[in-house]
Amino acid sequence: MFVRDTDSPEATDRFAQQLGEKLQPGDVLTLTGDLGAGKTTFTKGLAQGLGVRQVVNSPTFTIIKEYEGRLPLYHMDVYRLDEEEDLGFDEYFEGDGVTVIEWPDRIDSWLPANRLDIEIKYKEDTDKRSLVCHPKGERFEKMCEELIDDERAGN
Ligand code: ADP
Ligand code: MG
Repeated sequence: MFVRDTDSPEATDRFAQQLGEKLQPGDVLTLTGDLGAGKTTFTKGLAQGLGVRQVVNSPTFTIIKEYEGRLPLYHMDVYRLDEEEDLGFDEYFEGDGVTVIEWPDRIDSWLPANRLDIEIKYKEDTDKRSLVCHPKGERFEKMCEELIDDERAGN
C-alpha cells in the first residue's frame, strides 16, 4: 500500500501525471471515493501523463469515453450502469490502452485480478485528500515501490 497526501487539485493532478507516465497497455486502475473526492481530477492528470491532449471530462452520461495519447485512455464512470450490464469490458481491459474506472464496485465481477485500486479519502470543505493506492499483483506492487522511491527523491 502507498499513500500520497495532496493539499490541492494541482497536487493530485501532478501525482496522477507521474503515475500516468509509468503505465503500459492493458493497465487497469480503479478510483473509489465519494462524489467530489477528486476521481475525475485525478483522471485528468493521468491523461496528461499518458500524453492525451484532448480535454478530459466526466463521462457520467456516456459511461465510457476514449482518448488518444501515447497510449489510448479508456475513462469509465459506471455509476449509472444497470446492474450486471456488460459493455464489453474485457476488450477494454485487454486492449492497447489504459482503463480508469470510477465507481468500480458496480462492476466488481468484471474487474481483472491485476490492477491498481486507488481510494481517495476526503473531508468535505477542505482541499486535503489522501490517495491510498492498493496494488493488486506484482506489476502494480513494483510500481508502488517506485512511487515511494520517487517521493523520497522529492518528486
Ligand atoms: P469526483 O470525480 O470524485 O466526483 P471531481 O474530480 O469531479 O470529483 O471533483 C473534485 C473537486 O474537488 C474539484 O472541484 C477539485 O478542484 C476539488 N479539490 C480540492 N482539493 C483537491 C485535491 N487535493 N485533489 C483533488 N481535487 C481537489
Ligand atoms: Mg467524477
